[in-house]
Order: sequence, then structure tokens, then C-alpha cells
Amino acid sequence: MRIVFATQNQGKIAEIKEIMADTGYEVLPMGALGLKAEAEENGETFSENAEIKAREVYDKLSALGDVEDTIVMADDSGFCIDHLSGAPGVHSARFMGHDTDYRIKNEAILKKMEGVERPERGAQFVCSICAIFPDGHAEFTEGVLSGEVAMEPKGDEGFGYDPIFYLPRYGKTTAELGDKFKNSVSHRSLALHKMNELIKERLASGI
Ligand code: IMP
Repeated sequence: MRIVFATQNQGKIAEIKEIMADTGYEVLPMGALGLKAEAEENGETFSENAEIKAREVYDKLSALGDVEDTIVMADDSGFCIDHLSGAPGVHSARFMGHDTDYRIKNEAILKKMEGVERPERGAQFVCSICAIFPDGHAEFTEGVLSGEVAMEPKGDEGFGYDPIFYLPRYGKTTAELGDKFKNSVSHRSLALHKMNELIKERLASGI
């Protein structure tokens, strides 16, 4: 069995390889099969976007007659702020423009949160994973990491919204946690572990 992950991000591939190590599956990025993402991520939910990315790769492999013993996987994730009705949510990467520096995006979010006190500063990192099995059916898992919007940016590890995502239980932002530890508690890691279990169950029951 091989898993083809619909991403160009080497960090994600390393993370999924580590989490799926006990399964013995081969984990490949789509680029290793000469595929690249072209579909527009225009879904309204994380799971819709994850399926758009996975389905594109599945359809291309299917057209080549190359889906046997293959699970195609993709993820979609984002930052959801309660006080902003879940924004930036599925628009997290596009918020204020794809190429805008996250220091600017994070300052803009802190500005919107001015005057908002705890416990109204609740926020989550959410990750949805879609796996498409050889017969074409899709299955989903989700991981949620709950925390708060920090009062000020802190830390220089991680990426994106990490400097303004504060986890009260550790007294740190996810940019202060260290990548290794963050990856072990992250929304993506939770969703991947759930998917690992789900795949084992499905394969054991012959699907
Ligand atoms: P994608 O699912 O990898 O495309 O991520 C979508 C966007 O969500 C990223 O570009 C970031 O803006 C945000 N995001 C997702 N996961 C994280 C995280 O772990 N830390 C910080 N930002 C994140």
C-alpha cells in the first residue's frame, strides 16, 4: 500500500511519514509521481478543500490506471477566531493576500481583537484530512487545537499565525513551543493520527 499526499510541502511529508511509520506504507508527495496541484481551493469548509486537493490527484492517477493499492490524501487547515465568527478560517492563507507577510496579517488580527478580553479571545487551529481509497470513496478526519488569540506576537518558530496563537496550558504561543513539540500536539498531527487508525480499520475489514 502506498499513500500519495497531495502537497508540495516537504514539512508535511516528513510529519506524515513519521506518524505513519508503524504502518509500513510508502508515503510519497504527488511531485514524486510528476503531478502538481492545479485545482482551485474554492470549498466552503476545510473538508471540502481537502477533498478538492485529493480528488484532483486521484482523478489524474485513475486516468493513468494507477490507483491500485493507493490511498490519496490531502489536508486543509486554518485559523478560526471565535470573536471573528470563525475568520480567517478557510481563507487563512488568502487573508489580506497570499503574499502578504504574516507579521502584517498578525498585527491586523490583533488590531481587530483590541478591547476583547479573555475568555472571549478563543481560537482554534483546525485541520481536515481527506483520504480517497482505491475504489474512489472518500473518508475524513479532523483535528482541532484550541487556544486563544495572544495579546501580542511572541516566538519565532513555526509559521503563519503561530506567533499570535496562545496555548494557556503551556503558557506559550505555538511559535514558542518548538517545532518538534508543536508537531506532536498540533491539529494536523491529531487529524493524521486519527486517519492512521481509520485506514488500519478499513484495510483490516477489506476495504
Ligand atoms: P494549508 O492547509 O497548509 O494550506 O494552510 C492554510 C493556512 O492556515 C496556512 O497558510 C496558515 O495561514 C494557516 N495555518 C494552518 N496551520 C497552521 C499552523 O500550524 N500554524 C500557523 N498557521 C497555520
